[in-house]
Amino acid sequence: MSLPERPEAELAAAPPETEGEIERLRKAVRALETRFHEIVGGIEAIAWEADAATWQFTFVSPAAERILGYPVHEWRGSRTFWVDHLHPEDREASVELCRAATASGQDHELEYRMIAADGRAVWLRDLVRVVTDAQERPVFLRGILIDITARKEAEEALRKNAARYRLLLERLPAVVWTTDRNLRFTSSEGKALAAMGLAPDQVVGETLFEFFDTSDPDFLPIARHRQALAGETVDYEIEWRGRIFLTHVEPLRDESGAVSGTIGVAQDVTESSSMREQFRHAQKMEAVGRLAGGVAHDFNNLITAITGYTELALRTLHARDPLRQRLEGIRRASERATALAGQLLAFSRKRVVQPGAVDLSEVVAGMGDLLARLIGEDVELVSNLEPGLGRVRADRGEIEQVIANLAVNARDAMPSGGKLVLSTRGVVLDEVPARVHLGVPAGRYALLAVSDTGVGMDPSTRAHLFEPDFPTKEPGKGTGLGLATVYGIVKQCGGGVRVDSEPGKGSTFQIYLPLAGEARPEETTPLPGEVTDRATETVLLVEDEELVRAVVHDALAQQGYDMLVATGGAEAIELAANGSRPIHLLVTDMVMPQMGGRELARRLSASRPGLRVLYMSGYADPAASGDGLLSPRAAYLQKPFTPDEIARKVREVLGAAPTL
Ligand code: ADP
Ligand code: MG
Repeated sequence: MSLPERPEAELAAAPPETEGEIERLRKAVRALETRFHEIVGGIEAIAWEADAATWQFTFVSPAAERILGYPVHEWRGSRTFWVDHLHPEDREASVELCRAATASGQDHELEYRMIAADGRAVWLRDLVRVVTDAQERPVFLRGILIDITARKEAEEALRKNAARYRLLLERLPAVVWTTDRNLRFTSSEGKALAAMGLAPDQVVGETLFEFFDTSDPDFLPIARHRQALAGETVDYEIEWRGRIFLTHVEPLRDESGAVSGTIGVAQDVTESSSMREQFRHAQKMEAVGRLAGGVAHDFNNLITAITGYTELALRTLHARDPLRQRLEGIRRASERATALAGQLLAFSRKRVVQPGAVDLSEVVAGMGDLLARLIGEDVELVSNLEPGLGRVRADRGEIEQVIANLAVNARDAMPSGGKLVLSTRGVVLDEVPARVHLGVPAGRYALLAVSDTGVGMDPSTRAHLFEPDFPTKEPGKGTGLGLATVYGIVKQCGGGVRVDSEPGKGSTFQIYLPLAGEARPEETTPLPGEVTDRATETVLLVEDEELVRAVVHDALAQQGYDMLVATGGAEAIELAANGSRPIHLLVTDMVMPQMGGRELARRLSASRPGLRVLYMSGYADPAASGDGLLSPRAAYLQKPFTPDEIARKVREVLGAAPTL
């Protein structure tokens, strides 16, 4: 049986009068119905109709089965199908809304989840029309159910992303902003805004020029944003209102890919970057220290040779020889070179120190004359020394150097006179101030304060104070090593330094040195040996540096010593093994290639138990000599030295020896 192509036309014709006409109309209706099912059935949405009173479905389109998995007859078979299959969380609200809307005859829309046959929750959007009768009473509900699960999931993912983004902005010490093509802020948010005293989006509408209060297009952040507008991604660091921000800016693009503005993020890195700065500074000091130590070492060998030959030459000249005056000039110059090399060594912390128990008050008191001479007549010297201060473990000569350096600086800061106050006292430092201001552990310290009424320092001078070669004085006025040396010495003693100063208000340097737990008995200084007696002992001299070897050899041979000379450890051991003579004293350099002085002394002592040892050194590399410190009783001579000094030292060591 064929159905008409245009059933509407058949139905529009005159009312049926014959059986044939009735049959024609039936066909037209069936054709309409078929077309309706084809159209509705193909739509990916559920068309439905339900009784307005009972909510039982009277019709659902085939999509109902495809979308939720329940066959159409199940939908229509139960009055409670819809309510039963609503997601429990959405049930109450949806039922309530639907009931209210139906009662008032209102068309309505709702979104809810239904549980599908396979257990999935399916998000549906329901567009409901209320069909009323002539008395406006609801008869049918008709609607379309659309599956919006995909959209809902996308929304949810978006919401989660947004929440995560929010969390980042709230937690990270950062700021995120966007600008348009004119560098006008279109958004600004982030936790770090608060630290800048800004509310989120407060700057929206302002341009970067207004924000940074500049019209300079090359001002760093503006220049970088302009690069971003040109398509570049840039990173830079900027200091702003006392904080340091690590900043990243990129172009912001619209859907077509065209640059529509910029997006930036800045992180407050003030804390970590000052740590970086400190670390960098420590590294620099270390490197400079190593360099200074190396230079000083070589320098000391040279000075030893220069002073040695000068001294020996002087001895051979008549008192009236015109050369004498020139040689004296050389000697004076090398004395100054010696002092400079000593500073370099102290700064590099590689000088072999012979620490004893030193009382700061006694040291300061003992320097009275020297200080008075150093600071001149225009500066008044005042000492406030606490008696019985207790002892610190330090090398007396080094502490004197610290005090002298501070006094000289104070004098330089008071060109037209003033007052220099040196005071000492015992203090107990708590953990926090000790660590924070001095970098030392808590405990008992001897405090030496050196105050002047001089020109003082601005913060930038204070910041670099302890760096060597910090050029604040005109050439020739200072070496720039004074405070670096002070710092090196104090650190080696386990102490700390503090500076208080303001321009025009003078300066105070505070030196904290750890007090030794127990007062140690004074070291007894042996009497210098007699140099005039003719010597008879045999000395084994070991020194790798030729110039020094020659000078020491000549100086000791002149005294009458029987000299054995070696250029290194192996040669010395061979000499000792092959010789039949007794060796009374080993005079050896400490740092030599292949075998160090200590190693050599240990080996030789094994076969010659009575052997005395005198070490010489330009420095002792802590790696080569253990901790860089010798026992207070070890015989040791710091280079450079004069022929007289080595002769006296050798006599002293041998004089103290038991007779063999
Ligand atoms: P130098 O004295 O050779 O310049 P220092 O390391 O001794 O080197 O001192 C470094 C700088 O610190 C000085 O040049 C000076 O600017 C500053 N300074 C040190 N002590 C004082 C002080 N007591 N008063 C003012 N400035 C000082
Ligand atoms: Mg100085």
